Amino acid sequence: MHPGQAHAIHGNGEQDRRFGCECGIVAIHGHPRAAELSYYGLFALQHRGQESAGVATANGASLSVRRGMGLVADALKPSDLAALPGEDAVGHTRYSTTGSSTLANAQPLYARLRQGEVAIAHNGNLVNAAELRARCEAAGSIFQGETDTEVIPHLMARAETDDLTEAFFRALSQVHGAFALALLAPDRILLARDPNGIRPLSLGQAGDALLAASETCALDAMGGRFLRDVAPGEVVELRGGRVETVASLPAGRPALCLFEYIYLARPDSDLHGRNVHLARKAMGRRLWQEAPVAADVVVGVPDSGISAAVGFAEESGIPYEMGLVKNRYVARTFIQPAQALREAGVSVKLNAVGRVLSGRRVVLVDDSIVRGTTSRRLVTLLREAGATAVHLRISAPPFKHPCYYGIDIPTAGELLAARRTVAEMAAEVGADSLAFLSEAGARSAAADAAAADGFCTACFTGQYPVAPQPAERALR
Ligand code: AMP
Repeated sequence: MHPGQAHAIHGNGEQDRRFGCECGIVAIHGHPRAAELSYYGLFALQHRGQESAGVATANGASLSVRRGMGLVADALKPSDLAALPGEDAVGHTRYSTTGSSTLANAQPLYARLRQGEVAIAHNGNLVNAAELRARCEAAGSIFQGETDTEVIPHLMARAETDDLTEAFFRALSQVHGAFALALLAPDRILLARDPNGIRPLSLGQAGDALLAASETCALDAMGGRFLRDVAPGEVVELRGGRVETVASLPAGRPALCLFEYIYLARPDSDLHGRNVHLARKAMGRRLWQEAPVAADVVVGVPDSGISAAVGFAEESGIPYEMGLVKNRYVARTFIQPAQALREAGVSVKLNAVGRVLSGRRVVLVDDSIVRGTTSRRLVTLLREAGATAVHLRISAPPFKHPCYYGIDIPTAGELLAARRTVAEMAAEVGADSLAFLSEAGARSAAADAAAADGFCTACFTGQYPVAPQPAERALR
């Protein structure tokens, strides 16, 4: 989905700015119940995409694919899993950044190539897909959907080789941007990460089976243990029960998306060896050091603000309280209150716990301000619940620039921090004070000093590790 197109709605009625290719992928090699296992892996990656889900399996001779719209449990039924034979599988859960939300764009993408059948699952966004697509189309290619991912099978089909692994490598040598990929063929699985390693991908093992997943929480859910991360630029083959590095793309600057730590990944996942919850807590601690404030209670915005709020409370000595409660059943199909009802105070997603807030000075910790809608609403909610002051602390730097690598941050024009100073933002959301974590603070919380350079922070700095092509820029 292109930013700017209407998204499904957020619990409180505003557009859901679940910024896009928070897609998740899984792969399983050599497990007698591969389809079922991939279902559990995808379920653990549900937070990375709720638009569609799919699984493809291989039985050594041919592929089977099932895809559906919606949450994993809606998209894939027991009858689907029963129709997916074989010991190898790849799965995908999608939140689109490119291409609208239709079944034609759901993944894994299936294609019959000169090198054989393939099913491809992609997390990330390619920054030169429009150009490559135009070139393929000019040469006669017929595309089925709108996703950037579809250029990969087309480039493979055009590669002058019958060797599947070689064709995959040649295709990847032409695409630029962010990709964590799992490609299923009848006799092997190929995995790859872009040369900057913008999106995560980890390898695991469950008994004799080999696993891969966007996040380690999915390895856990599949009963596996973590083996290692796929390295930036590495192309890995899972074949005959073995893991082998079969090719490497020319190395880029290491640039794992810092926003994975800030918001996107699940707190129980480890990325590049760093636990996400602990990274968020460290961000909260740094936030207190950088922007202390006198207050009586620290409250985290559920869910992603909670770890940072706990860190802030620990470091400051100000007690943590559960001042906000989230209704976890607000799904996309929920009928949202109309604007008039929202203005009348109808609020369905978050509620304040008046008895812990009344008469108190509150520090409210959240992970980000995008358009400012959430913060404004929450500050009002806390005041109505009796808070005497609301100091907003954000455990990331201000979002000022669009993301071209699969996080669906709105266009620069819609980002509050792109148009306002911090003081103006504080006034706009109605907070007594507002402070953001510095970029250096966020980096150092996510890694030790040696690795703190190895992140993409383009949405904060505008320094893009891979230059977006003009066609991409025009969209954002
Ligand atoms: P806004 O109301 O537009 O300022 O959005 C800020 C809220 O969106 C914060 O509570 C964040 O936790 C949340 N948020 C940040 N990033 C994302 C994302 N990628 N998808 C959905 N919500 C997000």
